Amino acid sequence: MSSIPISDRSCPVCGERKTSSLWQKEDLSLVRCQNCAMIFTRTAPPEMAGQFYNDLGTPYYLSPEKLESDYASVRFERELRLFRKFCPGGKVLDVGCSTGAFLYQLNQRNPGQYQVLGTDVSAPALAYAQSRGVNIVTGSFPDHDFGGAQFDAITFWAVLEHLPEPKPFVEKAVRLLKPGGYCFILVPNMKSLAVRLLGMKYRYIYPQHLNYFTPDTLQRLVTETQSMKLITRGTMHFNPVVIVQDFRRRGAAVSDAERAALLKRTTSWKQKPALKPVKFLYRAAEQMLAGLGLADNLFVVLQKQ
Ligand SMILES: [Zn+2]
Repeated sequence: MSSIPISDRSCPVCGERKTSSLWQKEDLSLVRCQNCAMIFTRTAPPEMAGQFYNDLGTPYYLSPEKLESDYASVRFERELRLFRKFCPGGKVLDVGCSTGAFLYQLNQRNPGQYQVLGTDVSAPALAYAQSRGVNIVTGSFPDHDFGGAQFDAITFWAVLEHLPEPKPFVEKAVRLLKPGGYCFILVPNMKSLAVRLLGMKYRYIYPQHLNYFTPDTLQRLVTETQSMKLITRGTMHFNPVVIVQDFRRRGAAVSDAERAALLKRTTSWKQKPALKPVKFLYRAAEQMLAGLGLADNLFVVLQKQ
């Protein structure tokens, strides 16, 4: 991946240009907005949102380990539970759908209740999604003409942290939602236990992530969007193995292959019946952290007025 800076970014939440340095991790420098405290990278590698993910398609998204974990039934369990609470059926668009696993699971578990569409910039990942029966649209979401289509729900699972300009994505979602429709957003949590313990040693502080949200900055980004009402917010997911590994590695980069291998391992642990007592403790820990706002990811659910 090239790290030639092509842009001098303003704050992606409030547009402010004044920032203070926060962390430096190899080539990655994080700054904090002096107006709203949003943490982000001042520069974005070229085509971070386009060609890069297209090229990453086959080696990472389509590696057997990554596919196996994405398509495991436990992978989107929490997201699905949240989603079903608000959207029992209808037309669903998943932005940044990658290999289509969320939409695939949604259809598998609720046959006939949803019409699903996925969009992404990674053509190889989309080709795979299509092979699993998910309808797809390739290309830049804000620029795409959906031909007047209106959706009951639009999801962004781990997408906004990758975007040089996240705001136009949320605004486009608002335009595409039916009145009363829901928008689901999930991003890594800069106030998580993992970040508090590991700081910049945390593996998800890395060049693919351009935006680092806290509950306050995520809420500010979404509530400034016209005609969207915040319905609920919280934190979910907890991976203690990542914390232990990253602590031992002291911030050394984690390769895509290792990332995929760990995903596969944790997924298989989650599926082992013998680990039931451990799972019980794990779930209790996850719930406690979620209650304290310390779990790995932040989520918000918005409703179009
Ligand atoms: Zn700002």
